[in-house]
Amino acid sequence: MDRRKFLYNSSLLAAGAVLPFKNMWAAAPGKFNTLRRNVGYFTERGGTIGWLASDEGMAVIDSQYAKTAKHCLNGLKDRSNHPLDLLINTHHHGDHTSGNPVFKGTAEKMAAHENVPKLMKQANKESEGEGNTAYPTTTYAESWQMDLGDETIHAKYYGPGHTSGDSVIYFEKANVVHMGDLVFNRMNPYTDRAAGASMINWIKILDTVAEEYPADAMYIFGHAKPEYGVTGKKEDLKVMGNYLSAVIEHVQNGIEQGMSKKEITKQKVLDGFEDFRYADFWTLPDNLNVAFQEVKEMHNG
Ligand SMILES: [Zn+2]
Repeated sequence: MDRRKFLYNSSLLAAGAVLPFKNMWAAAPGKFNTLRRNVGYFTERGGTIGWLASDEGMAVIDSQYAKTAKHCLNGLKDRSNHPLDLLINTHHHGDHTSGNPVFKGTAEKMAAHENVPKLMKQANKESEGEGNTAYPTTTYAESWQMDLGDETIHAKYYGPGHTSGDSVIYFEKANVVHMGDLVFNRMNPYTDRAAGASMINWIKILDTVAEEYPADAMYIFGHAKPEYGVTGKKEDLKVMGNYLSAVIEHVQNGIEQGMSKKEITKQKVLDGFEDFRYADFWTLPDNLNVAFQEVKEMHNG
C-alpha cells in the first residue's frame, strides 16, 4: 500500500471511529451491568468480576481467565479513561485469578488476603507447571481499605470459609458487597478443604456479613444458578447459610444415629434444598464428606 492510500484509509478509520467502535464493544463477548453509582459486575466465564469505573478511579474484583479479563479491561476502558488502580482477588482459585497476568502490567496495585499468594503457589506446585505467577503483592491479614476518588473500597477477612483466604469486598459509597465464592447462589458450593476451608465457620461468616453491612446493601456472588443470578440481597446469604447448616446437621444426625460414613455421605439432595442440586462438578456427597471430616475433627479436638 502506498503512503497516500495508507493515510486515506487511516483517516477514514479515525473519522468513523467513534460510532463503529461503540457498537463493536457492545457486540463484544461478556456482559457489563451497573448496580449503583459507578459500581457494577461483569460476567463471561468463571467467577463474577466486580468493578468500579469513574473519572477518578478504576478497580476490578477478581480476574476470571486471560481471554475474558481482556474483554473486561477493554469494556472498562470504554467507561472511564482513568488507569486501573486496583485488582483484588477474593481468593486464589483459577476461575478468579487466571486473568491476573492480563491486569498485572496495568493495575497499580494487586491486593488480596495474605493466604492468597501462598495458596496460588501451592496450586502451582501441585499442577507441576509454571502456573499463574501473577500473585497479589499487596496483602493484608484482617482488613484493608483504599480510597479511589469518592469511593472507598474495603477488604475484610472473616476466617476460613470457601478457602482460607476469602475476602469480602465492600464498595462503601455504592453500598455494594462482593462475596467472592462465599456465596454460590442456590448452588451446591465447592468447599476447598485442602486450602483450609471450614464449613462451620463459613456459616458464621454469612451470619456476620448479613448483619454487618447495611440492610439495603446489594451483593455480588461468585457463582449462581442462572435463574437466580449472580446478584442479590442479604436474604440470599441466609439461604446459603441455611443450606450449609443443613449439610452439617445431616452429618451430625447421622453420626448420632450410629450411621456409617458411607451411609451419611450418599445423600444426593437435602429436603427443602432441591434448588441446590445443580452443579455436578462438586456434589452434595462431596460436601457431606467435607462436613463429616470437619465434624469428626471437632469432636476429637
Ligand atoms: Zn472458588
